[in-house]
Amino acid sequence: MRSETIHKRGDERVEAYLVDYDRARREFSWEQARAALSGLSGGTGLNIAFEAVDRHAAGSRASITALRWLDRAGGVQEISYRDLAELTARFANVLGALGVRPGERVFTLLGRVPDLYVAALGALKARCVLSPLFAAFGPEPVAERMRLGEAAVLVTTPALYRRTVAPIRDRLPALRHVLLTGPTETDLSGTGSLAGLLSAASPEFTIGPTDPQDAALLHFTSGTTGRPKGALHVHEAVVAHHVTARFALDLRPDDVFWCTADPGWVTGTSYGIIAPLVIGATMLSDESEFDARRWYRVLAEQRVSVWYTAPTAIRMLMRRGPEEAARHDLSALRLIASVGEPLNPEAVRWGAEVLGRPVHDNWWQTETGAIMIGNFAAAEIRPGSMGRPLPGIDAGLLERGPNGRALVDADGRVRPLEEAAEGELALRAGWPSMFRGYLHDADRYAAAFADGWYLTGDVARRDADGWYWFVGRADDVIKSAGHLVGPFEVESALMAHPAVAEAGVIGTPDPVAGELVKAFVTLRAGVEPTEELRTELLGFGRRALGSVAPREIVFDDALPHTRSGKVMRRLLKARELGLPEGDLSTLEVTR
Ligand code: AMP
Repeated sequence: MRSETIHKRGDERVEAYLVDYDRARREFSWEQARAALSGLSGGTGLNIAFEAVDRHAAGSRASITALRWLDRAGGVQEISYRDLAELTARFANVLGALGVRPGERVFTLLGRVPDLYVAALGALKARCVLSPLFAAFGPEPVAERMRLGEAAVLVTTPALYRRTVAPIRDRLPALRHVLLTGPTETDLSGTGSLAGLLSAASPEFTIGPTDPQDAALLHFTSGTTGRPKGALHVHEAVVAHHVTARFALDLRPDDVFWCTADPGWVTGTSYGIIAPLVIGATMLSDESEFDARRWYRVLAEQRVSVWYTAPTAIRMLMRRGPEEAARHDLSALRLIASVGEPLNPEAVRWGAEVLGRPVHDNWWQTETGAIMIGNFAAAEIRPGSMGRPLPGIDAGLLERGPNGRALVDADGRVRPLEEAAEGELALRAGWPSMFRGYLHDADRYAAAFADGWYLTGDVARRDADGWYWFVGRADDVIKSAGHLVGPFEVESALMAHPAVAEAGVIGTPDPVAGELVKAFVTLRAGVEPTEELRTELLGFGRRALGSVAPREIVFDDALPHTRSGKVMRRLLKARELGLPEGDLSTLEVTR
């Protein structure tokens, strides 16, 4: 696929991968997309790390910067494709020397540091399954995910090990190796030094035969009920990472690309590690957290040309006003895209006016592995719309039943809606980055499909021209600052406190973060609802859960229940929003 024709945008001539949408959809085939990648030599399969690193290291891009890392102290470190190939080879050899076999799960619990990228890609080379965790998680979410994922190896920092892992290590019997970054720590038993092992390992590694259907990535996501779900993706997903980076982000080898999502979330892996490297671009990684002035400086000084971020970040920049933006030279920016939560139309326009580029919203989720619906670089943007399905992706809207989800009849049939409509957003199953299972939960996986469709759990509207508009979730999951939070996980953590009899957790609207996590708590008989207790519970939640802890806790001794005794979160939410309790359907448009 070459970058296509010239298209006019205002007075500017734009060259883009996708210009004629209908033609691109007509002519696209996944076979051709697969053929655009190299595959392992000798026809021994397809491996994400080979496409992302080794094939560039062996070619003309070897000395190009693959990773440009900005550390907290203001330093910059550049790692070329050749160096990245060597470092990741060393990591793959370390795993081999430790007796870690293909298919075993390698977890990372790291901030955005070079070791994270080395471990992630090295694990894929070794044909292990990579599961990157968000470093701001507390011990409970980490224990839950590592237990469910049967982590064999964990790469983390000494500080994170002490704070988050040591207290739960006895709950992880499958965990054989903990590799710590940084200087060797002598006082942490049961751990090894990553640097020591890497320097002793060979920088040569030949990736073994990799079936495109072999498991590669394990991402945890949340549902309304139950524990986190482990969505498994296969090596073949790289075909979708590659083409969607071109179609939706218009990413090219000479771009400096900045994906601000943390690799602990799916966006930060698919587009914060894999996609830019497969393209052969320079990928920027910033160790620090959000700060408006810094972010502008990064965009300007690093000459970022394609920027993939989140609506919360755009709204935070908007809050600082246009003056801050005007102080920086953003002329290198060619495309801004965002994902993860609804993008308000004002944010799209603000981008155009203040940053010099509109924000291109796109839609996807953990299970889809790659962008499915998007606003394209050279096409009209309809502010407030998620855009149109990518070439190779068939989206549909299914008629919903009384529980808000797609109606599936006794024969397993669903009812796709024609033309302009509103329904549960569904995707025709079968694209390469589609998840291949929920770990240890075949029933749940099967229930996510009906009649050849994958059911997304989102409600959307389609206009007469085929643009999709997000309406809301058909379930109770919370989206806070772009991060998906499972209410059950938060409720369970709070109920571990001896004063708590029951908890109901919802998202409340917030102008910047979209939603904030709020808990309604019933105390055990005889416990006084004091301010001290509220503060204690907030701290208890924070220590257990980390970044997904509730921001607000209210005591409520009359939580609404279903007949089967479950807390009715939707009613709590209706009350919170001051909506009539009978009319819960209105909830969706409030998001
Ligand atoms: P996650 O699996 O954590 O990536 O979250 C996926 C969910 O985020 C989707 O199912 C949507 O509910 C929401 N989401 C993702 N992208 C968008 C978007 N562009 N507009 C509105 N919601 C979005």
